[in-house]
Amino acid sequence: MTVKNFWNRRNFLGSAGVLAGMMLTARRVFGLPAAVPAAMPEKLTGFGATGSVYEELGVTAVINGEGTMTYLGGSLPRPEVEAVMALAAQHFVSIVELEQAAGKRIAELLKLPRDYDAIVTCGAAAGMQSGLAGILTGDNRTFIEQLPDLTGMKSEVIIQKSHRNGFDHQLRATGVKLIEVESREDVKRAINSKTAMLHFSNFANASGQIKVDEWVKLAHENQIPAFNDAAADTPPVSHLWDYANMGYDLIAFSGGKAIRGPQCAGLLVGKKEFIANALLNNSPHEDTLGRGMKVGKEEIVGMVKALECYLNEDHAALEKEWWRRLDTISAELTRVPGVATSFNVPDVANHVPHMQIFWDPRKISLSPHDAASALRKGKPSIVLGSSENGLGMNSFMLKPDEEKIIAAQLVQLFKSHAA
Ligand SMILES: *Cc1c(COP(=O)(O)O)cnc(C)c1O
Repeated sequence: MTVKNFWNRRNFLGSAGVLAGMMLTARRVFGLPAAVPAAMPEKLTGFGATGSVYEELGVTAVINGEGTMTYLGGSLPRPEVEAVMALAAQHFVSIVELEQAAGKRIAELLKLPRDYDAIVTCGAAAGMQSGLAGILTGDNRTFIEQLPDLTGMKSEVIIQKSHRNGFDHQLRATGVKLIEVESREDVKRAINSKTAMLHFSNFANASGQIKVDEWVKLAHENQIPAFNDAAADTPPVSHLWDYANMGYDLIAFSGGKAIRGPQCAGLLVGKKEFIANALLNNSPHEDTLGRGMKVGKEEIVGMVKALECYLNEDHAALEKEWWRRLDTISAELTRVPGVATSFNVPDVANHVPHMQIFWDPRKISLSPHDAASALRKGKPSIVLGSSENGLGMNSFMLKPDEEKIIAAQLVQLFKSHAA
């Protein structure tokens, strides 16, 4: 079996069933020492014995045409990531030492500017909270224990109104007040001695008056650190270093989205001092705001491997494959009378091919909402997005051949609702 075919086997992790077998095969493929660790069972009995942990729990696994959605499980980590996580699970280490060493390796992999460092967090949202906490507290132990009581610290974060979203809860958790602005004049008026940080939400770049490059300049003109939430903003891969090169003091990425690291991992990249202070405010340190955002040794190591793999990926070939999948589905669907498709690639955030599926309600009597829910209830269950206008999907989280299943199910659904 070639390595390539092995990776493509859909059942590699999903239904291997025999953990030791998986490790042995992984060892063969990845050239790891052949010995199975003593703790690794030869064969699973009880829970997991069928190889289908979700079915055993009565939970339906879905075909994911929606993308890297946290509520669907983020992404599927590469087998190499699973392999290093299993290796990490065999030993005890100092988590702080591991965070620092992994951060150093990540900074090298990403060729970050010399004064930049990184840590692995349990997600981009955690990176936002601990990053801001570090800016507020510095390395002051009293302040760290005192959060979210900001007595003696700065207490305001400036954010563009159109950049407010569900993730600014992580900023507010530190106790800060968010000061909303729209224009450059608003920013100048808002800055005062209590201003701790200027926050930018990268995917909202187009909707705010002040764009990503100007925001960081405004911050630095006033000696205030700037944060960029770039959680879902790879691809392109260059975004992993672009914002550091632009001068952002801290940047957060999700590990469990397109990078395909462990789902509960993220990356906080930034100026050395801010990264060190973020770590002081995060697990494993006790009596900290971030103690609840624990990062495991497996996630830390898995994230290093995920980045290495992601950087070595043939991104052009991947993109071609994502288009091919959508084209396959589109070709089948548009043969059904009344069905049309269109395509787009969002500028930032999920910068991957997307397809919209429309139909003439005079030819097919089915609402987009009902279409989506029929797919979700189908066997296999398929998750696509829906709006008033039709269905929406992308293909970057599909497993091999799932595009054929989606096409067949949709064609059948449309035909069964022909008016
Ligand atoms: C997904 C996302 C987050 C949260 O990232 P996690 O890694 O899930 O914590 C934050 N901001 C934006 C814009 C996101 O898309």
